[in-house]
Amino acid sequence: MVTDHHSPEPTDPHRTAPHGSDPHGSEPTAKPSTKHRAERTGRVIPDAKLAEIIAAQEEIFVRRQPNSAHLAEAARQHLAGGVTSSWQITAPQPVWLSHGHGSKVYDVDGNEYVDLHGGYGAALAGHAHPAIQQAIATQAARGTHFAQPTPNAVAVARELTRRFGLPRWRFANSGTEATMDAVHLMRSITGRDLIIKIEGCYHGHHDSVQVSVMPDPGDAGPADKPYSAPSSTGIPKAITDLTLIATFNDLGSVERLLDEHKDQIAGMILEPVMMNAGIIKPDPGYLAGLKDLLHRHQALLTFDEVKTGLTVGPGGVTRQQNVQPDLITLAKSLGGGVSVAAIGGTEAVMDHVASGGYEMVGTFNGNPLAMAATRAMLCEVATPEAYERIEKLRLRAAEGIEQAIKPSNLTAHVVTAGAKGCVVFAAEPVTNYRGFLGVDDRYSHAHWLYQHNGGVFLPPWGKIEQWLISVQHDEADIDRLIENFAVFARAVGGEPKPLCAVYCARHPNESTCY
Ligand code: PLP
Repeated sequence: MVTDHHSPEPTDPHRTAPHGSDPHGSEPTAKPSTKHRAERTGRVIPDAKLAEIIAAQEEIFVRRQPNSAHLAEAARQHLAGGVTSSWQITAPQPVWLSHGHGSKVYDVDGNEYVDLHGGYGAALAGHAHPAIQQAIATQAARGTHFAQPTPNAVAVARELTRRFGLPRWRFANSGTEATMDAVHLMRSITGRDLIIKIEGCYHGHHDSVQVSVMPDPGDAGPADKPYSAPSSTGIPKAITDLTLIATFNDLGSVERLLDEHKDQIAGMILEPVMMNAGIIKPDPGYLAGLKDLLHRHQALLTFDEVKTGLTVGPGGVTRQQNVQPDLITLAKSLGGGVSVAAIGGTEAVMDHVASGGYEMVGTFNGNPLAMAATRAMLCEVATPEAYERIEKLRLRAAEGIEQAIKPSNLTAHVVTAGAKGCVVFAAEPVTNYRGFLGVDDRYSHAHWLYQHNGGVFLPPWGKIEQWLISVQHDEADIDRLIENFAVFARAVGGEPKPLCAVYCARHPNESTCY
């Protein structure tokens, strides 16, 4: 397992005062949150029964996957940590896959899973979709890289404009690159250095946004004035200090920062529906309010729709909420499983690029293979019919799981947004990161294990992630999800509630038990 190998010493040069705090140290300091994601979301299990259930499920998990265990061990010789990305180090062990087809993936032990992990939300097309296969094969036979534009790039940009409304586009290779360009652009256009970011939003692993992604309560600062807490080592405090932290669904927190740092804030980046803290939706009017506020201060607004883009609907949250930002970033599902990203902007923003005010560059930007796959994804896979189908499956999943929650003692509810969904193990809807911190992650981990052992691959990382229903899933796939949930709910949620207990609890002063 991963260890906390970088616990900062008191003399750590990063460990200095957060924004707005006393530089002489009379207030608590924000220290880099260097712990691995596994530990920050790790299980603290005071409840012996839940601990027992989790241990039993982990044992089944490991028993079912001896080849994965073997590969994980052998890979350590050649791959740092035995994996290709640190977030593949999941408990109880990484799952090694052999292939995927349609709505399913298969591990190296031959186990089949309904894939609702979707490669962290990138597999809206499902696996080996015929249209994507065809596009890739055709382009592969015609050359895969030129570093010169190809006609498919225009077709893709035109379709993105139709969906998202923004007139001009550029391409990149990952969500990280896209949000990095968006931040650069906001700074370059305004000539200002500071940006605002929402606590609990993730925008990739570049310096400016690796701030307060998932701060521990001790690092996060007061709820009404969150610190800029580093979310990775290796990033100088001078950089993280340029990222100011606001609270989701709280216009006042943004207004305060804009007032406190007059004429210094270039813009704000946020996930318009938070999807790296379960699913947290914007309150009515919140996104429009942000745009107003920022524009009043001549600052720009970026919607990071890397996760939400094609998955919440054909034109992302932007189209759903009818609020057009200055910049949009897309990636994940955009390329039908091929690595690609897009940055869309208003005329004013993209004129700055066109005129050479900011050089948006990259050897593989608009790569012909990526453009061919993206064109197929947009024009042949993510069709109106596909969204209709997904909507039916979304409803089926939400209703089925809610039905299983009802008779159990679980405190939980389902939140969905188009193809994405999750079970939140809390009574009330979560509205921001502080609320999310209060959600008990042990239940999410236990749920993940039950689903996995029952042949449904949800994304790891418990309460952080969501399922993704692809265009190739069907009712039987969703039913497997619901059945597994029902088994989990019975095991973890205890005996069904007797009706009178529910009634009596609500009416303690009545003498008659119904
Ligand atoms: N933005 C959001 C909202 C994300 O969820 C992610 C990744 O999970 C990124 C950006 C970074 O994307 P990538 O991993 O492709 O760099």
